[in-house]
Amino acid sequence: MAEDNFSDSELIAYLDEMLPSEKMVELEQSLRDSDSMRQRLSRIAQRRDHGVHSVGEIWRRQRLSCPDREKLGSYLLDVLPADHREYIEFHLYTVGCRLCNANLNDLEQSVKATPEAQRRRRKFFQSSAGYLSQMGHSE
Ligand SMILES: [Zn+2]
Repeated sequence: MAEDNFSDSELIAYLDEMLPSEKMVELEQSLRDSDSMRQRLSRIAQRRDHGVHSVGEIWRRQRLSCPDREKLGSYLLDVLPADHREYIEFHLYTVGCRLCNANLNDLEQSVKATPEAQRRRRKFFQSSAGYLSQMGHSE
């Protein structure tokens, strides 16, 4: 049956307009053809309106878990990919996890003391100085 081709999370993604367009077309087709599919979608839409089931909600729940100390260290050294950094910033500042904030403070103290961190930091400032002077030239 057509409705078995779609998972709940795909239906949620559809509601949030986050489904790839091919899937979107397929899903709309099966919504036209199937009563039970329409009912299923409307049930999901209701739960979603109550904040139980949205993509955003799932995302928040998954991201409530604490990053490990190594990740926090990498965050301090600014060597994480952007999405990891966003996750950690979300966790630290939006969720406001006390444990991780304490961990981060602690790491900050020890990182400051190591030459490796100083080297990286110098490199970071050099590259941003270069970047800034380029910006200045283009104005
Ligand atoms: Zn945490």
